[in-house]
Amino acid sequence: MTDKASARVNRETIDVRTALKRGIGELRNANVPSYTLAAELLLLHVLGRDRAWLYAHPEEVLPGLDAHRFLSLILRRASGEPTQYITGKQEFWGFEFEVTPDVLIPRPETEHVIEVALDRLALREIRAGRKPTLAGDGLEIVDVGTGSGCIAVALAKELPGARVVGTDISEAALAVARRNAARNGFADRIAFLNSSLLGGAGVECELVVSNPPYIGRKEKETLMREVRDHEPELALYGGEEGYEFYAGLIAQASETLKPGGLLVLELGHDSLPAVQPLLDLPHWTNVGVTKDLAGIDRVIAAEKA
Ligand code: GLN
Repeated sequence: MTDKASARVNRETIDVRTALKRGIGELRNANVPSYTLAAELLLLHVLGRDRAWLYAHPEEVLPGLDAHRFLSLILRRASGEPTQYITGKQEFWGFEFEVTPDVLIPRPETEHVIEVALDRLALREIRAGRKPTLAGDGLEIVDVGTGSGCIAVALAKELPGARVVGTDISEAALAVARRNAARNGFADRIAFLNSSLLGGAGVECELVVSNPPYIGRKEKETLMREVRDHEPELALYGGEEGYEFYAGLIAQASETLKPGGLLVLELGHDSLPAVQPLLDLPHWTNVGVTKDLAGIDRVIAAEKA
């Protein structure tokens, strides 16, 4: 939108329906994916309202300042900035997480990591002849490369007796993760550690989970601009090929896990052939792969032999 156009918007009164229509039009012209949803989220963010309100009050006139703010956010989104960095939040596992450009935006497919971890823990209980109702009492968990802390927080929620350590090489990411643990009420059960991979997490733990950086730098030009130009490189790229972190991660997990302990890792769309051979006897057993909703091999789990 030109300066002239936004000046005009400033002077005229604009109602909810018209503002939304203009926002949608701007984002569509800029080839933003899911442009209607993005415009809605930005308008809700500016107004501090929910979607039901939005559609119940199409005639409501926006205060001039809100109209101006909305259009400036639309311009940011149109230029490629992800909606979540503009609104500062993303939902994951039913919780709202703060996100900043220092952390990867949590993805829905990462929820499979939580599901697989919980299923595998329950299975262990059944095999040990115990009831699979699981509080995770006394369980020590490490989330490697915790980023926003989304995996650590989800596991703390589902396993109220467990303690979680979230590691990250980025101190800036850990600051966000700490706030996410605190705002969701888990600050007392999640500790954060500035380290590369598991380095220093050093506890004899029962579960190691990670969604490591797994995109290949050689794929950089094929990424969406929202990802390529805005999400942190540290969180995205595993190396030239993408799978470079897995070998070190798996070796360290094998040293840190107790016998029978579980490793659950998220995979990149083509990581499996490089990762599966790393999880073999004599160190690992019961290897399983889970597909995501798009049919991509997304999670690999194994048990320390
Ligand atoms: N653990 C965080 C997530 O799953 C961050 C992962 C990362 O930065 N690679 O979203």
